[in-house]
This record gives sequence, C-alpha cells and structure tokens, in this order.
Amino acid sequence: MARPARQRPIRWSPSVTLVPTRACFNACGYCSFRLPLSVGGSRIGPEGLSIAEADVQLMSRPHAAEVLLLSGEVAPDSPQRPLWFSRLLQLSRLALQRGRLPHTNAGPLSRREMAALARLNPSMGLMLEGLGPAYDRAHRQAPSKRLAVRLGQLEQAGRLGLPFTTGLLLGLGESRQQRLEALELLALLQRQWGHLQEVILQPWRPAAEQARPLAAKERAELLECIADARSILPAEVHLQLPPNLWPLAHLADAFEAGIDDLGGIDSADVINPDYPQASAPALAAVVAAAGYHLSPRLCVHDRWIPGLPAGLRAAAERSLALLQQRESADC
Ligand code: SF4
Repeated sequence: MARPARQRPIRWSPSVTLVPTRACFNACGYCSFRLPLSVGGSRIGPEGLSIAEADVQLMSRPHAAEVLLLSGEVAPDSPQRPLWFSRLLQLSRLALQRGRLPHTNAGPLSRREMAALARLNPSMGLMLEGLGPAYDRAHRQAPSKRLAVRLGQLEQAGRLGLPFTTGLLLGLGESRQQRLEALELLALLQRQWGHLQEVILQPWRPAAEQARPLAAKERAELLECIADARSILPAEVHLQLPPNLWPLAHLADAFEAGIDDLGGIDSADVINPDYPQASAPALAAVVAAAGYHLSPRLCVHDRWIPGLPAGLRAAAERSLALLQQRESADC
C-alpha cells in the first residue's frame, strides 16, 4: 500500500557491534565502557576478540548490514598498537567477506591508519564530544579527546574523502553557547570537505543504579539543541538521536525539531547497557504512531555511496539492494 506523502522517513541502520577490546588508555570521566589497561591490557592483542568469536556474532545477526567496530583506544606509541590495528583490519575484512559493511570507531588514527581502514570501511566515525570547561574536566585523563586532536581527525577524514559520522555528547554541564560553537565548527568542516554524513546528538546518561529517564527540562534543552543543529548544519547532514536515551513517548518532538535518524540499532547498546534498546518492530510502531516512517539504511548514507572507491561502492550497492528487498518483503 502507498504511504501518505507526509510520512517523512526516519532512518536506522540494522547493526551488529563488535568490540575488539574495552581496554583504553584514556579515562574519560563519564565512561562506563572502558577497562583500565591494567585489567584489560591483555585483551588488546591476539587474546582479544578473536576472528572466530567475531564470526559467531556476525552469524547471530544475519540481517545486520552494518558491523560497528567499537574499540577502546590504544596509545599511538604503545607497542600493542600494531597488533590492535591489524585486528581492526582483520575484522573489517571479515565483515566484507560476510557481505556486511564495517564502520570503525576506534579513536584517533594516523593518516596512514585511517587511509588503510578507509579502503575497507565505506564510512567511519569519531565523536567531537564538545567544547568548554565541562569537557576539559571530563577529559583531564583522556589525551585523545583534546578538541584539537578531534578536529584534526575530522579534517583528515575530509581530506581522504571518507564519509564520516561525528557527534556531540550533551549534558555534561556545557552552555548553549558552547553547543552552538561546537555545531559551528562542524558546519565549517562540512562546508570545506562535504564528508559529514551525520551528527549524533547524544544525551549523556548516567550508568548503573543511577539509570533514569530524561527530565522535562533536559528534554527541552536537547530539543533546543536539535533545532539549533538543524539550522546551523548544512541540510545534507543527517541528525541522529539514539532512541534508547530518549523517551519513546516524546520521539515525535525530536523529529519535529530536526532528528531524521535513529542510528545503528543492535540488540543492546554496549556503551549504555542500562538503557535498553527497543526492537526494530517496536520502534517502527512508535515512529508510525508519530506520523513518520522508519526506513533502513546502510552505515554509509545513500548520498555518499557514489563517491566510494569502486570495490566498496559495489559492496554498498549489493547491501543496499538486499536491504530494500527485505524492506519490501516486510511491508
Ligand atoms: S575514549 Fe571511549 S572507551 Fe576510552 S575512556 Fe573515553 S569514552 Fe571510554
């Protein structure tokens, strides 16, 4: 049956998350994902997520077109870095062999590392996080989270022509002005390089026993930020909101403000496990009730597919055709 024209699509990416290691040399003040190197160090190398384990995870999610490689970071000068990086390449190759598309988010990379991964990943990501004293405090022990490092990475991805996902972590104590300045920086990068396919607007949520829904005041401030982002960022940049960090009953408000993407959805959120992930059918029902239409996409958004290197473009086109077949079969 034809859909009413007013049903604007809200995109999501069927995704499976692989975690090569939780060991991380940073220690961000808000992180509940990291294992300290002293505990997790041995998990960086061959003892970390094995290819066989990764393959089992891929097979358990046959409809996940995106393989999100989400890793703790290894210091640039660490002797473990070559092993860690080679595991990222191996996992990317595995994803492609299985007909999936890898999307790596593993912290800052040298130009050579990023270029090597860009030959296997149709898109990659790195959060900008934010700017101002609240972020400086949270990142006191996180050298790779310095604003200059992050901006340098976004520019490097632009120079490589790599479709890129970035975003802001919101609610650490930053002001509206600081959010606006961060968005202006992203808009400048997009005007220069045109590679930012989406910006995640991620509410920071406390972990464990403190888990709680967003208060009305927090929601209002976030809606203001979404509207600001929509007016500052060029129209081709999608705005993403992780739906498990936002009350589903108020999703329509977020869509009205400018959100048009719900990101990669796996069966759980490894960064915020205390905030359960709704299933795709449950999300589709909520989105439809709000007057929109939930539609799947790849990790690389449609607009950026034609610009991919030939091999990756062919892989993305195959994945897109499969995704569209499944969507038609589900209708
Ligand atoms: S870089 Fe990521 S994994 Fe490492 S401490 Fe910060 S938030 Fe956690």
